[in-house]
Amino acid sequence: MREVIRRVSKEFGISRDEAELVVASLLEQPRFHIYLNGTIDTATQKTLERKLAQLKEDMPIEYVTKRTRFREYELHIEPGVFIPRLETEYFIDLIAQCSKEPPCTILEIGTGSGAIAIALAHIFPTAFIVATDISETALTCAHTNIRNHGLDTRITLMRGDMFDALSGQFDMIISNPPYIPHSRLPALPRSVRNFEPLSSLDGGKNGIQFITKLIERGGDFLTHNGSMAIEIDEEQVDILHELLSKTLSMPFSFHKDLFNRFRYLLIGNTEV
Ligand code: SAM
Ligand code: GLN
Repeated sequence: MREVIRRVSKEFGISRDEAELVVASLLEQPRFHIYLNGTIDTATQKTLERKLAQLKEDMPIEYVTKRTRFREYELHIEPGVFIPRLETEYFIDLIAQCSKEPPCTILEIGTGSGAIAIALAHIFPTAFIVATDISETALTCAHTNIRNHGLDTRITLMRGDMFDALSGQFDMIISNPPYIPHSRLPALPRSVRNFEPLSSLDGGKNGIQFITKLIERGGDFLTHNGSMAIEIDEEQVDILHELLSKTLSMPFSFHKDLFNRFRYLLIGNTEV
């Protein structure tokens, strides 16, 4: 094992301590177990080598370990499902602050791993949530996470293209839709471009294809005092401002992320 740690440290250009953390994480063992037996059996060695090779190919560590964290929640994740991002963790704080009254019903469009729905179920403990996705792989993953967090009775999953197959009205609609402009996809980091599902990133021309649909149709699915929260790219603020000013009668506002970039659009009756 000492030899393995030395090699990982050298090949990945990381310290010995870091190599121990990586290996422990890949083997799903506490760090001290690395040295407990001194040796490594053939099957474990094979698994470790396969996972190290995946990391060398730039596969995100979340896909290699099939685990990720979103805020304080441990989530299962796998290839084919979008890895929740830092900016979305902060989006949840904004939603918690901006809600005048706790919503009784929430609709999430494009739930992926279920990260947003799970976080909101904890923040609004009496709310019922419908979470949708077009991807069967995402829904299977979200189902695992919702069950692991004991939220089956409060979060209902549905498969569908945006609002198709949905009916009724909700106090809050939230979405982190695909919003990367199609032309920018080739410039994404290799780990994203080669491993994450493009259908969770590609927002078409200007990246606003799905955002526009949410704005156009969302109102029909909102209760009287309902609100909508959408994660966006900062380059879309001007074009969305123009579109919203022309088409929307409800109030709207743009909000900054932790790095001072306008990344969130709130529509309707909100506190901030
Ligand atoms: N909500 C998750 C999060 O924040 O980590 C996932 C967000 S990911 C950027 C966008 C999600 O929208 C993906 O899971 C993708 O499968 C889903 N999606 C893409 N096109 C869709 C459509 N037409 N209708 C519903 N969901 C869609
Ligand atoms: N922020 C994500 C990224 O940079 C994109 C998320 C999205 O399209 N919703 O990969």
